[in-house]
Amino acid sequence: MARIMILGGSFGGLTAALELKRLLGKKADITVVSEDDKFVFVPSLPWLSMGWRKAVDITFPLKQTLGQRGITFIHEKAKGVDADNSKLITGTNELPYDYLVVSTGPCLAYEEVPGLGPDGGHTESIFTLGHAEKAYKAWERFLENPGAVVIGSVQGVSCFGPSYEYAFEIDAELRRRKIRSKVPIVFVTSEPYIGHFGIGGVRNSRRMMEDEFAKRDIKVVVNSAVQEIAPGEVVLKDGAKIPFQLSMFAPAMKGVPAVAPLGNPRGFISVDGRYRHRQHKNIFAVGVAVAIAPPEPTPVPTGVPKTGFMTVRMAKTAARAIESDITGESAPAETAIDVLCLMDMGNTAAFMKAAPVLPPRQESAFREGKRFKWGKAAFERYFLWKMRHGLSGLP
Ligand SMILES: Cc1cc2nc3c(=O)[nH]c(=O)nc-3n(C[C@H](O)[C@H](O)[C@H](O)COP(=O)(O)OP(=O)(O)OC[C@H]3O[C@@H](n4cnc5c(N)ncnc54)[C@H](O)[C@@H]3O)c2cc1C
Repeated sequence: MARIMILGGSFGGLTAALELKRLLGKKADITVVSEDDKFVFVPSLPWLSMGWRKAVDITFPLKQTLGQRGITFIHEKAKGVDADNSKLITGTNELPYDYLVVSTGPCLAYEEVPGLGPDGGHTESIFTLGHAEKAYKAWERFLENPGAVVIGSVQGVSCFGPSYEYAFEIDAELRRRKIRSKVPIVFVTSEPYIGHFGIGGVRNSRRMMEDEFAKRDIKVVVNSAVQEIAPGEVVLKDGAKIPFQLSMFAPAMKGVPAVAPLGNPRGFISVDGRYRHRQHKNIFAVGVAVAIAPPEPTPVPTGVPKTGFMTVRMAKTAARAIESDITGESAPAETAIDVLCLMDMGNTAAFMKAAPVLPPRQESAFREGKRFKWGKAAFERYFLWKMRHGLSGLP
């Protein structure tokens, strides 16, 4: 029986584990190792930071879902991978594997900008459950005494969407409370233009986003690198200083330390079209852990986002490739990585499609409408239901 170890229990890890079980049944002994014992629907963290969701609405325990499918769950943090001897190293154990799927997501690199982040820094973050809960507390305090808001993405960021969502949500919520006129909002980004999103824009995203920010009276500073975050003040590399009462910045990302030695200098793992490690053939990597080169060099460095949709697709392809290794069945087709995303805009939302993710593209779309907001909420419910019940095979 093949021993398959999955590292991480989120979009990539949970999908890979359930798919491998579905495809291989008793032919494989599957174990998920994750430092988090819950699945978190990460795309809803901006809503949680606004008080529109609670943790219980967007999480479920991994052990129960995996146990029902005959998959072992180990709630532990991995320390490293001994790729030459095919062993996953945790704090208490060395776990041998025939196949390893790395789906560890990002390490959030707050330390790259002095004063960045909520742990010892001066900005909020909506990138983990704990940080989003902290951001909600900061938001409640802010509402008692509103002032200037600065939101953005520092140099090297690859996941731009959440900062857009947060800016639009704050704008919408302040308008709903009829206090928008008390709050100047500035959006600072390393993107060369608004609506670039790290993927060279999608269709008319630049024009639509420029209009949207103008319509909402949100000042935009593009092509910008942050020197440091001082208490109550963002200091840009060009010397400009922007004061704030509340600030949230996306950090750059790197690979997590346990798997970084398997990857490039930023710790992201280079894979082939079926997500197999280029040197270690029994290791696969999916999701944010994977290395994707940017479409074009930007004046201030930016990276390519790896969305939940992409991650699930990668995990399904990797599972089929492992199945093919074990059973001798034909290998799956290589999947192009596309973007299919619903971006919240507070009172409305945008639908984004980019296929493939980087230009030139066969298909692309960028549309705005209230129906996409309802669609986003419906998808959240559906995805959580599907994964909680282990039904990864559903669309
Ligand atoms: C705020 C926010 C909003 C987003 N919105 C959208 C959206 O609207 N649509 C969309 O498609 N995508 C969205 N994304 C992107 C999407 O959330 C990611 O693509 C997805 O979470 C990636 O899944 P993953 O499995 O690669 O990594 P992650 O979700 O980051 O999960 C990593 C897993 O690995 C575990 N882990 C890490 N290190 C270790 C270790 N050393 N040992 C053991 N376990 C470890 C973690 O506990 C976790 O379970 C958003 C992302 C953020 C941050």
